Amino acid sequence: MVAEQPADSNSNQENMDVLSSTRTVIKTALEKLGYPEEVYSLLKEPLRMMTVRIPVRMDDGNVKVFTGYRAQHNDAVGPTKGGIRFHPKVTENEIKALAIWMSLKAGIVDLPYGGAKGGIVCDPREMSFRELEGLSRGYVRAVSQIVGPTKDIPAPDVFTNSQIMAWMMDEYSRIDEFNSPGFITGKPIVLGGSHGRETATAKGVTIVLKEAANKKGLNVKDARVIVQGFGNAGSYLSKFLHDSGAKVVGISDAYGALYDPKGLDIDYLLDRRDSFGTVTKLFNNTITNKELLEQECDILVPAAVENQITKENANNIKASIVVEAANGPTTMEATKILTDRGILLVPDVLASAGGVTVSYFEWVQNNQGYYWSEQEIDQKLNEIMIKSFNTIYNTAKTRRVDMRLSAYMVGVRKMAEASRFRGWV
Ligand code: NAD
Repeated sequence: MVAEQPADSNSNQENMDVLSSTRTVIKTALEKLGYPEEVYSLLKEPLRMMTVRIPVRMDDGNVKVFTGYRAQHNDAVGPTKGGIRFHPKVTENEIKALAIWMSLKAGIVDLPYGGAKGGIVCDPREMSFRELEGLSRGYVRAVSQIVGPTKDIPAPDVFTNSQIMAWMMDEYSRIDEFNSPGFITGKPIVLGGSHGRETATAKGVTIVLKEAANKKGLNVKDARVIVQGFGNAGSYLSKFLHDSGAKVVGISDAYGALYDPKGLDIDYLLDRRDSFGTVTKLFNNTITNKELLEQECDILVPAAVENQITKENANNIKASIVVEAANGPTTMEATKILTDRGILLVPDVLASAGGVTVSYFEWVQNNQGYYWSEQEIDQKLNEIMIKSFNTIYNTAKTRRVDMRLSAYMVGVRKMAEASRFRGWV
């Protein structure tokens, strides 16, 4: 018997909105930079979008056929790079938008890559270890012709981890008849993974947050911070800020939020959270996520899901700095409201670029066969994030645009130039 795993049509509509707002900002950025319309025509869509069907023999003996995608946005600068997510709501439009965002991030932190993204419509929380291995290997076989260490390098994303990367690397190495650690990043350290990869996103956010605080004349040691989301990004970020002396006054997960103006005990919360980033269920005195965003603080970091700051609540945000650790937490209308109110908004494509930066370090180490210490990784990440933040901050000031548009201008420029030099447009 063969069962189908359908794609979710409602989330396809939501993701069409994400895709069209991404395109709108890219169009404005290219116009500001003086590029002709044909450059926008090239960059508004991925160059390649592959849809695959992956049959997996499930534990009950039946075969289930899963749908997977791989989008490669633009490879003018170099091979494409981007994670693979396993989620029941994965859609083609979401994967396209995320591939474009990866191109922007690579441009912002000046990596020799274009952007890509992959996804499989599935619910890994309901699958056994053996079924997940079959699905991971099946995906690699299905996309093997368009990926590879010099073509397109995958990585982990939502609900995928270092074990899944290890299976994928092994499958690719079998097909290639060659040990290919540089095919994928986010691997376990023993298979060529990099030190510092797990905490890279949170470290990157911490670095740009400190730069933003400097610009506002705020010392992080005296700052009150709210972090929405307590998963990979939010929990490590809370820990790094807490260790830097900041007062983390609020955190949240999908079930609620904790707020204490005197500061929360982050080490205790980290100790008690589960692997899905849930901790608030243990407390009675919770508030809602909606309420948390409007509490008193100096710095607000949305690190959970998209569309959290909208035109409905943007006027009630008390923070003077908003740092987007999550992808797409602020709508276009809310971006305008926050900017008009003088709030410094550090956009997602800059703030969360630490992950792809350390993924790049992993690929470089695999290619050269020589490995760096965590201190070396931290130092290189620090330099790149500080330089990128200041480029975008200064561009925003000189071009009189908001930080999001400035980031898109910086992110798209190298790709547009490379496409022109190659004679594509
Ligand atoms: P995660 O799954 O580890 O954690 C997500 C957290 O958000 C959990 O605490 C969860 O309970 C909470 N959450 C879920 N739904 C929520 C809701 N509706 N309201 C409030 N909280 C909710 O995810 P993560 O890896 O920490 O990623 C968080 C965000 O950061 C995502 O937007 C992701 O795309 C972005 N991001 C993460 C990385 C990374 O390396 N982890 C890199 C770049 C961007």
